[in-house]
Amino acid sequence: RGLAIGIDVGGTKVAAGVVDGSGRLLAQARRSTPGSDARGVEAVIVDLVAELGRGRRIRSIGIGAAGWMDLSNGTVLFSPHLAWRNEPLRSNLEKLLRRRVTVVNDADAAAWAEWRFGAGRGEPRLVCVTLGTGIGGAMIRDGQVERGRHGVAGEFGHQVLVPGGHRCECGNRGCWEQYASGNALGREARELAAANSPVAQSLLAAADGDVQMITGALVTRLALDGDPACQELVEEVGQWLGLGLANLAAALDPGTFVIGGGLSDAGGLLLEPARRAFARNLTGRGFRPAAAIEAAALGPSAGLIGAADLSRSMPRGR
Ligand code: BGC
Ligand code: ZN
Repeated sequence: RGLAIGIDVGGTKVAAGVVDGSGRLLAQARRSTPGSDARGVEAVIVDLVAELGRGRRIRSIGIGAAGWMDLSNGTVLFSPHLAWRNEPLRSNLEKLLRRRVTVVNDADAAAWAEWRFGAGRGEPRLVCVTLGTGIGGAMIRDGQVERGRHGVAGEFGHQVLVPGGHRCECGNRGCWEQYASGNALGREARELAAANSPVAQSLLAAADGDVQMITGALVTRLALDGDPACQELVEEVGQWLGLGLANLAAALDPGTFVIGGGLSDAGGLLLEPARRAFARNLTGRGFRPAAAIEAAALGPSAGLIGAADLSRSMPRGR
């Protein structure tokens, strides 16, 4: 069925890849997301398509973008982490690339890939949560992405867990993604280091003594290397993750939660505390079947693989 290019546009990076009909990633490339500029993001996408398309016959192109989509016309209605406000992304890209492009939400794309090729294969009620700059969400119901009445369902990252809590880029306070995303992990770690905590010494050293250089990705790496303070930070994020999943289980009753995005690299360090917090907070616990919580099998590539795959099959205007 030929090759497709999938591009995952997140708040921090733009990841692209060439994907075959069985979801295999044949080549990949990535750039940082240019901040605060819609034209800059389009230029990066055009550049990645040129790089990956060189010498290959590409049948279709799919974009998974971190925003709220009007799928009828490929407009990004709103994005908390990017400069898109009623941005006609699909038609802009089609003009620049002079070919058809499919545009979907990044977490919808990741969920689709995990359902087709990954940890959620064949699950009739799959909920996928991606942890990166923000928290993305999607539900796959009997092999279809459940997009809601207006196409913007699955914005689980903006369920309010802490009224009056941290300010979120969506405009509210206390959203889940302020507590359980890669960004949340980075913020907590910077706070710890800025307080001159003795336990944060090796973390600060790994950031060359510059608090601002501390990111969620760095903390995850150090945690995997055995740093106790970083492991505690990841564990705390895992607890918030489990609490939010318990809320989602009350609403949606999935068979499996698949957890993807960059932060899922932390593996059991994140998922074990999440499973415990989930079990402690699930409503009706002990008297109801509970969902499994699994790591994304496709890791942080799920979004681009799903976007590529959807570009083969998704009818236009849907
Ligand atoms: C956005 C979602 C997106 C997610 C992950 C959230 O802040 O609202 O649309 O899927 O971040 O990128
Ligand atoms: Zn929010």
